Amino acid sequence: MNSIRMRFPGGKRKAFTMSYDDGVEQDVRLISVMRKKAVKGTFNLNSGLFAREGTVYPAGQAHRRMTLAACKKAYAGSDMEVAVHGFEHPFWNRIPDGYRIKDIIRDRETLETEFGCLVRGAAYPYGAYDESTITALDACGIVYCRTVASTHSFAMPDRWLKLDPTCHHNDPELFALADRFLADTSDRDPLLFYLWGHAYEFEINDNWQRIEDLIEKVGGQADIWYATNIEIYDYARAYERLLFSADGKRVYNPSVQEVWFWDGSVVRRLGGGESCCL
Ligand SMILES: [Zn+2]
Repeated sequence: MNSIRMRFPGGKRKAFTMSYDDGVEQDVRLISVMRKKAVKGTFNLNSGLFAREGTVYPAGQAHRRMTLAACKKAYAGSDMEVAVHGFEHPFWNRIPDGYRIKDIIRDRETLETEFGCLVRGAAYPYGAYDESTITALDACGIVYCRTVASTHSFAMPDRWLKLDPTCHHNDPELFALADRFLADTSDRDPLLFYLWGHAYEFEINDNWQRIEDLIEKVGGQADIWYATNIEIYDYARAYERLLFSADGKRVYNPSVQEVWFWDGSVVRRLGGGESCCL
C-alpha cells in the first residue's frame, strides 16, 4: 500500500505557530502584528507574577509584566492560547518535586479560572528541564511543553513534552528558514514552522521590523494553517488515532475532529466517526 501522510485542516501541508513568554506589555503590539495576517499563537504566562494594578516601571525597563486585567484583554479571542510558564517562573529542574508540581498545577488552575478555558500547554521557564520535570508536567495534565533548543527543522515534534522550536526570532537563519519553508513543494511529510521568543526583546533590540517582515512574509498564505500550539497538538493526536484494517485498505476516524491525509495520490478528508476505503 502507499504510505499515508498527515495533512493539516483543509488538506494543507504546512502549519505556522508562535510561542511567546512572560505575559509582557509588548505582547499587545505583537498580537496586533500577528492579527493583520491571521497568524495565531500561544502566550506562556506566570499567573503568580502578574503586575499589581498601578505598577509603574522604572524608565528603561523593557521586561514589563502586564496586570491580570491587561492579560485578559490582550489574549481574549480564540486565535490566542494562554499556557503555563510556572506560577513563579522557577527553574523546574532545580526545585523539589512536590514544590514543582505545586507550581505547575497552581499556574494551570489559576489560568483556567481566570481565562475560563482548559489550559494544557506549557513552556519551560528558562528552557530548563529534566526527566522528573517531564513526569511532573504529565501528571499535571500538561500535554506539550516548549524548550528553547532550535532545530532549524520543520518536522513535527516526536515528543510533545520536549517540544523543540524551529528557531527564535533573532536567529540569524530566520529569513532563510522562512524562504525554505515557503519554497518547499514536496508532497511528503507535513511541515511545522514553530517560532518562539519574548516580545520585550523587540524593544530591547529595537527590531520590531524583523517580526513585522517575517509575518508579512509567512502570514496570510492560502496553503498554510495558522494555529495555536494546542490546536496543532490536538489535530496531530486526532490523526494518530486513525485506525486501519489489517490489509491497510480501510481507515476509520474514531475522533470527533475531521482529519486530512495524503493517501499517496490524493489528499483525503475523513470526518469524525467516518470510515473510507483506500
Ligand atoms: Zn520566561
